[in-house]
Amino acid sequence: MLCNRLVLNFMILVIVQVQGYDHGKSHNLTEMFEFLDNLERRSPSLTHQVLLKSGEGRPIKVFKIAQDGVNVVNNRTQRPKSGRTNNKRTPNLSSVHTQKKAIWIDCGMHGREWISHAFCIYFIQLLVAGNLKFLTSRVTFFVAPVINPDGYEYSHSVDRLWRKNRRKFQTGNRTCFGVDPNRNFPLDTLALNSQGSKSRVSNPCSQEYDGPHPFSEPESMAIQKGLKGAVNQGYQMIGYLTVHCCATVLLSPFGFRREMTPHYRDQMTVLEAAKTAIEANQEGLHYKYGPTSALFGPKRGGVLDWVYLEMKIKFAFAFEMRQRGPGGVQRFLVDESNLLATLRATLAGIEAMTGTILEIDGKGD
Ligand SMILES: [Zn+2]
Repeated sequence: MLCNRLVLNFMILVIVQVQGYDHGKSHNLTEMFEFLDNLERRSPSLTHQVLLKSGEGRPIKVFKIAQDGVNVVNNRTQRPKSGRTNNKRTPNLSSVHTQKKAIWIDCGMHGREWISHAFCIYFIQLLVAGNLKFLTSRVTFFVAPVINPDGYEYSHSVDRLWRKNRRKFQTGNRTCFGVDPNRNFPLDTLALNSQGSKSRVSNPCSQEYDGPHPFSEPESMAIQKGLKGAVNQGYQMIGYLTVHCCATVLLSPFGFRREMTPHYRDQMTVLEAAKTAIEANQEGLHYKYGPTSALFGPKRGGVLDWVYLEMKIKFAFAFEMRQRGPGGVQRFLVDESNLLATLRATLAGIEAMTGTILEIDGKGD
């Protein structure tokens, strides 16, 4: 294992030197997109889709890193090449062994959380470079590196601590900007129990404004579109992860009510494995893990509840990664002297998460 890690670190160094993109530094949106475009041109296993455009017209992209390094056209979406009608019954892929397992990872839902964006770029490059074959031999990854491009750009150019997107709202004489994408998922159709969070965050000036209505924002819509698109391609989504910064916690559903999910034990088994792996790579940092509502109190409209309840993805998690260093708002600022170590720790957490999900998934429910 140590040998593998040394080889991996050497490969990262080689990649950085050859391609001129330093994962140990922060990059703006243009640099990130240019890097990914170049990488895609050279990598047959890497393809992208623009899910939607942001409010300011920037693309919200998801990258697919194919299993075994080859992009598979699934039977469900493949049409006969000739004009003849295919009279064979369409196979039910949910019961076919060839169904591909997939995991979705998104980064940058909040503009100021720059280590999140940095991680997804780093992760995509390692996946396509073939350094993580023990993951890509078993799972196809869908990685959305910058879910909230307007927030990231604004955090770079104007307000370093900007969290939300940049939608404009006029309330009386006051103009406020931004919806929190991670409060914009629907729960209106789901029963809230007496302990649940019933109140909306209806003030557009709030850092956690949930928007005019669920799925009012391209960022939340893009995640919905991407996940449903993957399912429609015949992928079995075995995991969902949204990468954030900087609360030093690993989160599971529920957020909107103080109740354990029916899959609580399995979810905690995965998070405990991830926590152990992350802490082994980040000396001096201690991660808590558990349901969002238990660690932060009830929060309504978060992505995890929607992914778990509506998309039926049992393993839906958020990693709130943290760098070593100061607390308070200072924790959002990137310390480039330990950025790579943080990215490696996040990677270790995802390796442990994926391995444990596959192990549990293999045993059946
Ligand atoms: Zn966040």
